[in-house]
Amino acid sequence: MIRYSTQNIDDQDIQSVVNALTSDFLTQGPCIEKFEVAISSYVGAQYASVVSSATAALHIACKSLGVGKDSIVWTTPNSFAATSNAALYCGAKIDFVDIELQTYNLCVNKLEEKLIASKKNNCLPDVVIPVHFAGQSCNMKKIHELGQTYGFSIVEDASHALGGTYQDQKIGCCAYADMAVFSFHPVKMITTGEGGAIVTNSKDLDESNKRFRSHCMVKKEGAPPWESTQVDLGFNYRITELQAALGLSQITKIDQYVQHRREGARHYRQILSELPIALPTQSYGEMSYHLFVIRLIEGSDQERKIEIFRKLQEKGIGCQVHYRPIYLHDYYATLGFEKGYCPVAEEYYKSALSIPLHTKLSSNEQDQIAEILSKILLG
Ligand SMILES: *Cc1c(COP(=O)(O)O)cnc(C)c1O
Repeated sequence: MIRYSTQNIDDQDIQSVVNALTSDFLTQGPCIEKFEVAISSYVGAQYASVVSSATAALHIACKSLGVGKDSIVWTTPNSFAATSNAALYCGAKIDFVDIELQTYNLCVNKLEEKLIASKKNNCLPDVVIPVHFAGQSCNMKKIHELGQTYGFSIVEDASHALGGTYQDQKIGCCAYADMAVFSFHPVKMITTGEGGAIVTNSKDLDESNKRFRSHCMVKKEGAPPWESTQVDLGFNYRITELQAALGLSQITKIDQYVQHRREGARHYRQILSELPIALPTQSYGEMSYHLFVIRLIEGSDQERKIEIFRKLQEKGIGCQVHYRPIYLHDYYATLGFEKGYCPVAEEYYKSALSIPLHTKLSSNEQDQIAEILSKILLG
């Protein structure tokens, strides 16, 4: 079975974890800070906090921005539910801005229209969470300008985008955002098993992020040496030393991983060019290619897509669909969302299929995939 994505663990990774496992620390040890320094210097942000998942990272980011029950958070429907769940954990109201069909990212024109309407109704968002889908940056300059005009904070969900660029800078440098988060789930760009990070250029936000990660326990000046006091309601969102050791080893290979994925994407463009499908377009920066999404242009028919998905599976090719618009999940219906809310995201969902792309995929396997796909689509 060729999976749509998979981790890549080598001897160096294994040795790194074994070293941590036999060290004095299984958690809260030196690998955590080293991993944070490696991430922040790689993406070009001043600070990083590594945590137990990107979901935890998003939750903490919202908490550090003061998101609470009176807050409004907007994001894209074309993401994993964790992006919007983070706002719901804080008791906030969530809303969605439809995507654009060029990049499958949140559409800045629709964002602006929605801001204009919301200003009249006095319900502007406090935070907007753009998602860099498949590792392609959103139009961050424009989103940042709108943030300045309408007074919202920005958290980039860069779960797909470690190694991607925008305006010749790495995604995560936070030039146009308050914070950015990454995921280290095995299907993502690098892995720690489970894990995530929050990066920022704000010392205050970084300190807050680190407090929320660990119960908001703070040492006060003049207090007895054993004493910490809990200053807010925090969490245990720590990552273990073993995971950080794995991440520290994985991140040394990120450029190699990104290069492999980009070459894979280039190869797909050549071998899939004759098929009746739409291939990803790059409008902003260089993609990390966490995903390679094709769209079936012969008709946005759910039945046909199920048939193609099944046939690929039978031939040993694992595909996935990213994403069912978040608000179509059953739980979101209980919040009042209905079908038709973001028509472009729904149209996209009907036709989109992520085909395998990962760091262990060979060009021979890609050729096989293209051949099988061609038989299914044309024959
Ligand atoms: C994977 C993912 C998440 C959640 O990441 P976890 O590390 O699994 O919590 C959030 N947002 C996006 C866009 C993702 O792809």
